[in-house]
Amino acid sequence: MNEHTKQPNQPGDAFPISHTVIVVGALATNCWLYPLTEPGPYEQDRGCAVIDPGADPDAIIARMKRLRLYPQYILLTHGHFDHVAALPRLVSHCTRPGKALEIGIHHADASFLGPDAYTVHRTAFCAVAGNSAYVDALWESMPSPTKLLDEGDRIGPFTVLHLPGHSPGSMGLYDAERKLLFSGDTLFKQGIGRTDLPGGDWDALQKSLERLFALEGAIRVYPGHGPETTIAAERRQV
Ligand SMILES: [Zn+2]
Repeated sequence: MNEHTKQPNQPGDAFPISHTVIVVGALATNCWLYPLTEPGPYEQDRGCAVIDPGADPDAIIARMKRLRLYPQYILLTHGHFDHVAALPRLVSHCTRPGKALEIGIHHADASFLGPDAYTVHRTAFCAVAGNSAYVDALWESMPSPTKLLDEGDRIGPFTVLHLPGHSPGSMGLYDAERKLLFSGDTLFKQGIGRTDLPGGDWDALQKSLERLFALEGAIRVYPGHGPETTIAAERRQV
């Protein structure tokens, strides 16, 4: 399991903040911990957003504990199992009396969560792997979302960019203040998302990529797998 801490802000930024990636599971998914406030003068837990808890809940929980973070939001760039498998354990472990925990996913991927989600995940994995062993090995009953998101919605520091193609409800989480984007499996460093899973749509993916490439080149991009990049660097790849 790889781990490192990003320092996304430049010296002089108004609001220095760091976020951390934990690479989880057999498919090496990037699970991001995104603190929502600066460290205070006193040792106290800071709220954070957890983005794509794809596996290894114990590792995610341990890292939050070490960094003195607690989740205010669990946000899913899309519903594929390698991005959500740790959700059940995180929710059961991190729900605290008096502290709201928002679980957000785009409404078009909502079927990946909730009591009927097993069949959806099983079908998706069988379509590409020929069996559902990956899902079955990690399966725990999926909580339902508390917030169904759509284009332009604000959640925490993020604006939702609906980026269908890899899945119907794929979304980018864009922090305009810090000029960074969590791109899920839509855009990678030197790569784009696959469209051969149920609900994948090549033409929709192309439109979503065109939209991303029209954004400011300096925006830093943190994908669902692999290293970070920028809009400008990926624009040059196409
Ligand atoms: Zn995916």
